Order: sequence, then structure tokens, then C-alpha cells
Amino acid sequence: MIHLILFGPPGSGKGTQAVKLAEKYNLVHISTGDLFRHETSQKTELGLKALEFMSQGMLVPDEITIGMLKKKVKSLPDACGFIYDGFPRTIAQANALDHMLEENNESISILLSLDVPEEEIVKRILNRGISSGRPDDNDESIIRKRIQVYLQETAAVFEHYAVNRKSKSINGLGTIEEIFLRLCSHIDPLC
Ligand code: ADP
Repeated sequence: MIHLILFGPPGSGKGTQAVKLAEKYNLVHISTGDLFRHETSQKTELGLKALEFMSQGMLVPDEITIGMLKKKVKSLPDACGFIYDGFPRTIAQANALDHMLEENNESISILLSLDVPEEEIVKRILNRGISSGRPDDNDESIIRKRIQVYLQETAAVFEHYAVNRKSKSINGLGTIEEIFLRLCSHIDPLC
């Protein structure tokens, strides 16, 4: 069973690529950002709590995020494999994911990290903000804050999986199709 982490800074193209990969490899795409936005739109207690953090470009606390992710995975017992998009974003989340998979004798297959320079990211997110309606995509200072949080709290997750040689860096510049092919060249050998 494939457990793929699609990694990289905000705006690096994880969501776009995850949708294409999920279709090609018959994997379930789980985006914690999408799950939070769904909860927020339904005005659930979890959603309103998450919004306090998301709107400031901060991470939602681990206990909330981990609980939500586990619940989602457990609700999909028939999945052939998963793409985790936007999770894990902290070492605590990575440990929680590893333990959850271990309970089923599973483990992370690969982490693919999309490399995109900061200035390109800011440009892409501001551009996305025009149509996405996401408040965290419209304000350059919030975008810079998210990049800073990525460097301070999330980048270490790459090293966490590099220990087992599971982390790979992918050039995230080019057309959607070019980047997709680069990702596929790492996933095909796992199938
Ligand atoms: P992007 O990758 O463009 O930042 P996401 O949709 O992945 O967008 O995430 C949007 C926001 O949702 C994040 O800035 C953060 O506040 C929250 N979030 C998403 N995933 C996590 C996570 N794994 N841990 C904590 N917060 C998260």
C-alpha cells in the first residue's frame, strides 16, 4: 500500500499535483488544509478554532490536526493508498503518522518535496488569491509568515524521513505536466 507525502512550502503546487497523482495511482488524496476549510465553511467548533490560526498564517495546534487526520484515515478502510498533502507539518505530526501506520504494519513509502524559490511562491499565492477567496492568500505579510513557519517548523520533516532515505527533492518549476512527470518517475518504481 502506498503512503505518499507530498511536501513543500505553501504555494509549491502540492494540491494541483496531488489531484493528478491520486487519479493516476488510485490513491485517496487527503489535504489537511482542505479539511480545515471544509470545517470552517460548516462553522463547526473545530473549523472556527482552526480559522483563528489559519487566518494568521500559523499552524493549527498538533492535537487538533492529528485528531482530524486520524479520524479521516480511519473513515476510509477500503483505500488502496494515500497521498498526504499539507501533513505532516511538524515532527510531532510525523511521529503520530508513523505510529498510526505502524499499528497496521504500514509505513511511509516516500516523501516528495517540491522545491520552489520564495519569490515565485509569493507570486503564485497572490495570483491564486485573486480567485481562491482564501483570506490567507490575499495578504503578502500573511504569506511571508506562512513561509517563515514552513522554514522554522515544517522543513525538519524532510530530514525526519531522509534518515530512511525516503525524502526526495523535486524541481517544482516548469509546467504542471513537467512537474507531474518528475513526480511519477519516483512513484512508478513503487508500484
Ligand atoms: P498552503 O499549503 O498553501 O499553505 P494549505 O491548504 O495546506 O495551504 O494550508 C492552509 C492553512 O491550514 C495553513 O497555513 C495552516 O494554518 C493550516 N494547516 C493545514 N495543514 C496543517 C497541518 N498539518 N498542521 C497545522 N496546520 C495546518
